Amino acid sequence: MANAVTRRGFVGLAGAAFGAAVLSACSGGNNAGSQGSASVAAAGGIDYMVLVNKQHKLPDDWEAKVDLVEAKSPLYDEPVKVERKAYEAYLALKKDLDAEGTFVDLDSCYRSVAHQQEVMDEFTKEKGEEYAKRIVATPGYSEHHTGLALDLFLVIDGKNVAENDEMMKHPDIWEKVHAKLADHGFILRYLHERKIFTGYSYEPWHIRFIDNPEVAKKIMETGVTFEEYLNEVPEYIAGCKVDYGTSKTYAESDIDSTIDPILGEFANWKGCVMKRFVFAGDDACGAEELAYANSLREQGTDEFDQAIVLVTDFHSPSADQAQGTAWEPDKDYNDYTWHLGRTGADGAWKLLTWGYA
Ligand SMILES: [Zn+2]
Repeated sequence: MANAVTRRGFVGLAGAAFGAAVLSACSGGNNAGSQGSASVAAAGGIDYMVLVNKQHKLPDDWEAKVDLVEAKSPLYDEPVKVERKAYEAYLALKKDLDAEGTFVDLDSCYRSVAHQQEVMDEFTKEKGEEYAKRIVATPGYSEHHTGLALDLFLVIDGKNVAENDEMMKHPDIWEKVHAKLADHGFILRYLHERKIFTGYSYEPWHIRFIDNPEVAKKIMETGVTFEEYLNEVPEYIAGCKVDYGTSKTYAESDIDSTIDPILGEFANWKGCVMKRFVFAGDDACGAEELAYANSLREQGTDEFDQAIVLVTDFHSPSADQAQGTAWEPDKDYNDYTWHLGRTGADGAWKLLTWGYA
């Protein structure tokens, strides 16, 4: 894996915020769901290259079509469910890994839309709507609905290592797992520093079956996301270069969580295309920046204790599209800064201002 150094770099910093961030892709516990039978008859086959993410909903007829089988997970009393071919491929992958002394097993796999709704309702009741929406994937928009997404966990010295933070401490083992994925038609879905495209922070455990080792190899070798491979990246970030650099202050997940508020604004800038998205560095996020962030804070809200700055380059719209906007048409706007603040490492970043400092 190309990012081994980065991964080692941030693992030690991964704290509570990381755990919260990864929940959004995989949270939901066991597959449970309300499907009665162990196997739903396939009525016409499924598209193994289907894209399900925060913008792409599960096809409406998917749950009626997908052929699920039950599998044992040591983590749950109830069996987990996996799409039939994906499960066969998983068994072959597992055998391959076993042979070299790398041991994995299944955590959460298939989750029904109905079950995801229950999880959402539970979180909403306990933590409020804003929190629930930030943490739990919207029902219908989780890749786990496909039955093709598997969350693995590690078995080290006979012990189950299934907690996210704990699993993050073993990049060397994950590297061995990831090296075998493509041979069996799997890809790693949520890559380092690619949340801008996938919508999710790095998850070494979440693998996706695409039923095509050749394509899987191409994807894994080039290090592109599934979204990029399918050309399904929104136009306003297509080809964007991302670089978080190194930080002693922030984990990768902390920087990841600035993406939603920033893109939430940028996506409205009709015709503008983001070319570069980089972390401004620890020096730009110190006491002076924190004081600045607090000076922009809404009255009556909690004082920020963390501030962060991101830098972007973008290209403004062509002359006809730029009409009536503040942009000079067809021009590169470089080193444009975004300023955010938050209260507590678990808090959501608030976008405060943007422009040239
Ligand atoms: Zn997952």
